[in-house]
Amino acid sequence: MTQFFRNDLASGDPLVVDALNAELNRQQNQIELIASENIVSPAVLEALGHPITNKTLEGYPGNRFHGGGEYVDIVEQAAIDRAKELFGCDYVNVQPHSGTQANQAVFFATVSPGDCILSMNLAAGGHLSHGAGANLSGRWFDAHHYAVDKETGRIDYDELESTAKTLRPKLLIAGGSAYPREIDFERFAAIARAVDALFLVDIAHIAGLVAGGVHPSPLPFADIVTCTTTKTMRGPRGGLILSRDTFWEKKLQSAIFPGVQGSLHTQVIAAKAVCLGEALAPGFRQYAASIVSNAKTLAKTLMDNNVDLVSGGTDTHMVLLDLSRQGLKGQVLQDALARVNITSNKNPIPFDSAKPSEWAGLRLGVSAATTRGLGRDEFETLGSIIAEIIHDDDGAMDRHRNKVLQMCQQFPVYQDCI
Ligand SMILES: *Cc1c(COP(=O)(O)O)cnc(C)c1O
Repeated sequence: MTQFFRNDLASGDPLVVDALNAELNRQQNQIELIASENIVSPAVLEALGHPITNKTLEGYPGNRFHGGGEYVDIVEQAAIDRAKELFGCDYVNVQPHSGTQANQAVFFATVSPGDCILSMNLAAGGHLSHGAGANLSGRWFDAHHYAVDKETGRIDYDELESTAKTLRPKLLIAGGSAYPREIDFERFAAIARAVDALFLVDIAHIAGLVAGGVHPSPLPFADIVTCTTTKTMRGPRGGLILSRDTFWEKKLQSAIFPGVQGSLHTQVIAAKAVCLGEALAPGFRQYAASIVSNAKTLAKTLMDNNVDLVSGGTDTHMVLLDLSRQGLKGQVLQDALARVNITSNKNPIPFDSAKPSEWAGLRLGVSAATTRGLGRDEFETLGSIIAEIIHDDDGAMDRHRNKVLQMCQQFPVYQDCI
């Protein structure tokens, strides 16, 4: 064996290995409350680091452009079959490198440049890849957006219907990154039908909740569904495209390859298969249920402690704090929480300023900490700490930080396994 195969990271690349070790240490000693994050299993990590990454393949199982694909075919087919079973659908593409590229492929398959698309705006919780000006989707399409009701923080379906009737979009999109409430997919679908629009649902954030049976599934109602395998799905970074039937199959297959992607990320396909297998195992439904109950505990604790939440609560894994009554900026609170080892992100609230430094919101999600094992007591503690930091001066920061560190030790991550 040549020396090449003996070069491990520690001996060959101290810069990277030091940063990786510091990152692992960071994850172990903070409580992750960024709503898009999670903590993957050692099995998923193992797949991501496997030599399967060396295999180049284009095309789909049984129909590849390169030789030597027989084992990757087994893995990709398993991922497809598992996703079909998990979401109860007849079409799945497991190749999207990200949620954004899954959406791009759907656009490529279903609409043309200049067509009108209608999606939730960014301040209301929408996503960049749904036609935001700075994204390719905003440049290529005539993108329009709906908001949420100013009072309730929820989608106003009557207003959405009248907007859709005026604009008559080719594509109507439901789903977002900071909308904490259940979405009425049936109502959305009726609106889409009434204006002859295609209906895309992006469940990037809530896919694990749908898979775990704690949020209604869009699959009976949507023409096409996209999601990530990160976030509540607790898998590798990447996307999926799903549909209840095979009507769009041909167009979606060629939209991913050769439309917007080249060869597959074989190691990620393997990790997707593993994560989908984990989501089919009985424990996952319990995990999804714990996510929602933990988010409700966090929401209740914050509200009981005089903190405002957009929409006054949550049905999902996420709460969106509205700090405008305190005149506090999201960035300031994000920085303060970082000092007590709680990781979060500033976020716009509905009708917020376009400037990130001015945003009056902070988004919190419980998926990662729920994976870690935190439950009702811990989320009550975290909620109280966050509320105290919002209302008080910095006097108790050391005490808060010690409490969080204690929690980190009580609920370890990847201890003795990697
Ligand atoms: C996170 C997210 C995406 C994008 O996923 P990436 O893998 O980061 O590209 C797409 N849509 C929504 C609604 C999201 O929340």
